[in-house]
This record gives sequence, C-alpha cells and structure tokens, in this order.
Amino acid sequence: MNEQKKSALALIDETADFYTGLSDRIWEEPELSLKEFKAAALYCAALRELGFTVTEKLCGIETAFCGSYGSGGPVIGILGEFDALSGLSQEAGKTVPAPLVEGGSGHGCGHNLLGAGSLAAAAAVKKYLELTGKPGTVIFFGCPGEEGGSGKAFMAREGLWKELDAALSWHPADVNQVETGTNNSCIQVLYRFSGVAAHAAGNPHVGRSALDAVELMNIGVQFLREHMTDDCRIHYAITDAGGVSPNVVQAKASVLYMVRANKVADSVALQQRVDDIAKGAALMTGTKFERVFIDGTAELLPNYTLEGLLYRCMAELGVPRFTEEEKAFAAALRETYPAGRTPPGIGARADAAIAEQVRELTENGAKPLNDFLAPPYSGTIFSPGSTDVGDVSWLTPTAQLNAATWPSGVPGHSWQIVACGKSSVAHKGMLFAAKALASAAIELFEDGALLEKAGEEFRLKSASGYVCPIEEGAVPIAL
Ligand SMILES: [Zn+2]
Ligand SMILES: [Zn+2]
Repeated sequence: MNEQKKSALALIDETADFYTGLSDRIWEEPELSLKEFKAAALYCAALRELGFTVTEKLCGIETAFCGSYGSGGPVIGILGEFDALSGLSQEAGKTVPAPLVEGGSGHGCGHNLLGAGSLAAAAAVKKYLELTGKPGTVIFFGCPGEEGGSGKAFMAREGLWKELDAALSWHPADVNQVETGTNNSCIQVLYRFSGVAAHAAGNPHVGRSALDAVELMNIGVQFLREHMTDDCRIHYAITDAGGVSPNVVQAKASVLYMVRANKVADSVALQQRVDDIAKGAALMTGTKFERVFIDGTAELLPNYTLEGLLYRCMAELGVPRFTEEEKAFAAALRETYPAGRTPPGIGARADAAIAEQVRELTENGAKPLNDFLAPPYSGTIFSPGSTDVGDVSWLTPTAQLNAATWPSGVPGHSWQIVACGKSSVAHKGMLFAAKALASAAIELFEDGALLEKAGEEFRLKSASGYVCPIEEGAVPIAL
C-alpha cells in the first residue's frame, strides 16, 4: 500500500467521530422513504464542509443528492442510503423490546450506518485524489427511498449511473463478506377502485362496491399463480378496505400489488396480467379503478472483477475485533430470536465446502458476533428479495460488501437491529466498510487495467440491454 493510500485510509480513523456522530444523528431522527428531508440536509451540509460540490434534488427527487470531487475520469460512485422503517422504534442498547416512541419509526435496516460509512469512504477517496493530484472524480450519491420508492431506479431511468466507470456500496449485516449473485426484479402498482355508496340493507341494488372489486381482483390473482413460472412472486396488501361499516356499500377501496420475477422484462409482463385482472374485477362489479405506478427495481448483475477487488481490500485491512462487553451485548440480544440453522453468509448457502469453513469460523454457530471474513464465492446464486442497486448494476459495473454491524442471525428489519444501531459494534463495522470501499475505489484509480476488466465484464453481462421498470412519466410516491 503506497503512502498516499495509507494517509487516505487513515483519515477515516482520524475523523471517525464525525461519521459515527452523523450515523447516530440519522438514527435519532428516523425518516421514512422519500421523506428523508433532515437526513438529506445533514448530508448536503457535511458534503459541503468536506469540500465536495453538491447537487440537490437529483433527477427531480426531493431527497436525492450527490457530492462530487475531482475532474475527469475515471469516475467512481459510492452509494449511500438513509431511510428508516415504520413501527420499529426502539431504545439503543436495550435487549428487550422498548419503543422510544410508541408506533414510531426506526433504523431497522441500518441505513444510518450505510450512508455515513459510504460518505466516510468518499471523503477518504477525495483525500487520495488531493494527495496524488491524479485525474479522476469521486461522487457520493445520496439515494433516497430504498425501503420503498426505489430512488436509484428512478435515477436510472434518467440515465444517471451511465456516467460512472464503477459504483461501490455496502450494507450493514451480521457477517463480513462480499455480496454476490442475482435476485428478483420487482414492480409495485396501487389499484384504487371507486364505486357507488349505498345503504347496504335499504337499497343495495344501487350500490357498486369497490371492496367487492378488490376481493374479486385478489381471487383472480390467486388463480393466476398457477399459471406463472416458479421463480415469480406476487404479494398484496389491502391499503384501504373502504371503512369499518358493514352496512355501507363501500365506494372506495385500494389494493397494493408487488410483482416479482428474476428478469425485469418478466416482471413487466406479469404485472400487465395483474392489470388485466383489475380490469376484469372492475367490469364484474360495475366499478372503476385508477392505476398508480409506485416503483420498480431490476435484478442485480454481479461483477466478479469488482467483487474480487472488494475481497482483497477487506482481507488486507483485516476485520474488526470485538470486546467481551460487545460480545455479551450481542449474546443477550441473540436470546431474543431463534438461532439460525444455516451458517451465515452467501457462500455458505451456495457451496458445501464454504459452509463447512464458516461452521468452523463461527465455532459451530456459538459466536454471537461474526469476527471473520467469509470465504469468497463467485458462482451463481439467487436471492428472492429485491434492491434498487440492481438498476445501478445495469448501467455501470457495480459491487457491494457487507460488514458485521449486529449479532449473528439477527432477523432483518427488526427492533434488535435498531437496538444495535448506535452501538460500538455497529460503529466498528461501519468504519471497516468505509475503509474497504475507499481502498477498492483507490485501487480503481491506480489500476486502469482492472477498471477496464470490470468494464468488459459489465458490457458482456448487460449486452441484452437495461429494461427500466420505472414507467414513463411516473414520479416517486411516498406511500
Ligand atoms: Zn431493508
Ligand atoms: Zn437495507
């Protein structure tokens, strides 16, 4: 590692309090998807203080922004998120459910750490560019609405990610590893039915029930499930049942549908079949409906070249160690959820030999905190979930890592994750992720051949072309 790179990475430790403080402030004021106004203002102020050139309301999205430093190519993007989840309010450091605000929101996916860690990485890369005077640009992207709203996919519709030579990101997790594999694309559409209200006993014949339409639409979709491929998923939520009075014919009712398939083109086609069912339900009930496109994401395209780079950087840095006190906190939290039966990490799911290695590294699952780097895996693997990082990966070579910021096996989107969000375990994981991302980005500025190789792999994998799941004219909607 050369001196300039060493100094750049050292900056993360020297300024650690600034980033852990930023993460803690975001944790303290959890904001839901596309309503992250305070977080966006905090980040934009921090970016300006750090000497980045800030663009607010990126791609016309209120809480999207970026901070750029440098000139010319290569251009490396580092992605940050900062939205929270509803109903997960929880006191920090408590090992029993203890909402700070009854029914309030909380950072149950660790996006307080995700944004601040990525910003620390971008600041370190900026320092490297300053020290070396090399040409190149680093851009921190503030990406809103990951939990709902698909900010990055709306930004992809505008072609934003095409300007990058590579994008790097991370996600808090229970294990240190490089993320890999593909996943499901996803599309969300809200159907708002409207009918005619009437006294349900007195003159039901003049009423037209929007709730009936929702019910018939749901039945239609249940029958559709037999005639779609196994990899597809359709989920729904009745967001408005039209009221609580059974003696009223409900004039309004809404249902939100989420359609998933591995390939985004298949999600689009399946979603159109759901539209047809909505039309049928309206026809059957004499109601009308309004179709509101909510959001969509494409599937991930893994980039093994960048994944290999991330692994080398993580291995070179060495993963964080934890104190007895930190282990005791994690062990106490672990008592509150069932122990997982599979060893942690993507590789362990896909490869029996890796699973065996991980079993040893976790001392057969006994360790409350995973203080090791999971062995690399670069075969095919599929995860049924979805992320808007997928849309970035169709427009530029993209890779992500995970850092252990909470106990092994902790359920996703849980109060336990919120309880860990301000802990020293979380801070250590975040700073480690920041250094690994910065180290990888710096390598891409130093090794043009490696960046070219990542680009070649990307061009091959994305040759079929990006199908953007975001419809023409659609705008991000906070649900
Ligand atoms: Zn999440
Ligand atoms: Zn998340």
